[in-house]
Amino acid sequence: MRFLSTRGQTPSLGFSDAVATGLAPDGGLFLPESLPDFSGKLSAFERLSYPELCFEFMRVFATDIPPDTLRQIVAASYTKFSDPAIAPLKPLAKNLYVLELFHGPTLAFKDFALQLLGNLYAHQCRVRRETINVLGATSGDTGAAAIHGLIGRPGTAIFILYPDGRVSPLQERQMACTGAENVFALAVDGTFDDAQAALKEVFGDQGFRTQHRLSAVNSINLARVLAQCVYYLHAWLRLPAAERGNVEFVVPTGNFGNVLAGWMLQKMGVPIRGFRVATNQNDILYRLFTTGEYRVGAVHPSLAPSMDIQVASNFERFIYFAVGREPARVRQVMDTFKQTGAYTFERFNRDTFTSTRCSDGEIPGIIQRVHAAYGYVADPHTACAFKEIAPDRVSVVLSTASPAKFPDTIRSAIGVEPTHPSLEALKSKPIVKHKLQATPAAIRAFIHAHAVGA
Ligand SMILES: *Cc1c(COP(=O)(O)O)cnc(C)c1O
Repeated sequence: MRFLSTRGQTPSLGFSDAVATGLAPDGGLFLPESLPDFSGKLSAFERLSYPELCFEFMRVFATDIPPDTLRQIVAASYTKFSDPAIAPLKPLAKNLYVLELFHGPTLAFKDFALQLLGNLYAHQCRVRRETINVLGATSGDTGAAAIHGLIGRPGTAIFILYPDGRVSPLQERQMACTGAENVFALAVDGTFDDAQAALKEVFGDQGFRTQHRLSAVNSINLARVLAQCVYYLHAWLRLPAAERGNVEFVVPTGNFGNVLAGWMLQKMGVPIRGFRVATNQNDILYRLFTTGEYRVGAVHPSLAPSMDIQVASNFERFIYFAVGREPARVRQVMDTFKQTGAYTFERFNRDTFTSTRCSDGEIPGIIQRVHAAYGYVADPHTACAFKEIAPDRVSVVLSTASPAKFPDTIRSAIGVEPTHPSLEALKSKPIVKHKLQATPAAIRAFIHAHAVGA
């Protein structure tokens, strides 16, 4: 299969090249040239384990990787999950389920995509006899998940910048206590935005970028979106047949990567009724789905920090379909948005997308209510999704992080502090971090000294 840019000014690429490229050179995001139709295969998929299902799904897209190799890559990507179901679907009440996506190594849903992406990168390094240096800035979860996708992989190194003293102690430990020689946790002076801005300059230096074969960690990689389709499919197949057609997935949303994956799966012939886009107080997508206007706002830090975004970086993929798959119109929307900070769409299908917004003040109360009603402990991100459940649908709430990652918020809500063995184990390991100034020169010098390959 070939992959096209949403902006239409990049030649189509095969799967491995599109994954290695990340952002298309024309500024757009890669999408499959045409979406496959899985409707005829669903009954054959019913009995498959998670890794088998993932392989059957991915092979339709990753046609440039030999099937046996792809099967191994996929199988290896789900060995570090602590629950045998990988993505267990748990009933809470009549017409209400929770899909737990936090049993991977960093206890958040990003592991589903980044474990696979790490193995795809390593595979590419092997067959092309190349090295790769992965670079990213994080305010929390993504950096840890990316690091755990690449730990100890030959031919790779990963450098993650984060604002020193401004990520949670547990998040810092997930990045800085790996003991792996190819992992560099870089604690920079300044804010996340400072780190991000410096990084952007480093990537802008084409010579340096090519010399060290730099690749970016970000939420727009094609492989991430495809990997995330699989848990929706897996959950759908585990619902009672009578409930499947009426299912609404309720998704704690930031950059729109997670819910986009579910929606694309629906477009590939899986009869899902709809999606509920649950935002925190950073509500650009809530405003979009309730009014049609997409307008950038300021970021307000919240108790659900992985959803603290200003613009949703995956949203351009949705725009592509919303404007009838015409790249010229995508460019026009993105231009208008860039110039004015807003764009108004015609009405969306309200049956497919509903949306809720959860203010910070509401989060502890929801955690308490969900705990009292179902005996279930939701992390602050998942709590946003429990804000409101449609009475006339079968709801599957995606639980995106383990509550043990947010002990303070949970304790203040229900009086007990959740723990997790893997987080407890981290507390006795030494922190290895490198303090850096948030300047392009300091970052370049560090990478120069520690990169693989060059
Ligand atoms: C990243 C993240 C989200 C937001 O997911 P998007 O794909 O950016 O919409 C929600 N919850 C948790 C715990 C996350 O780490």
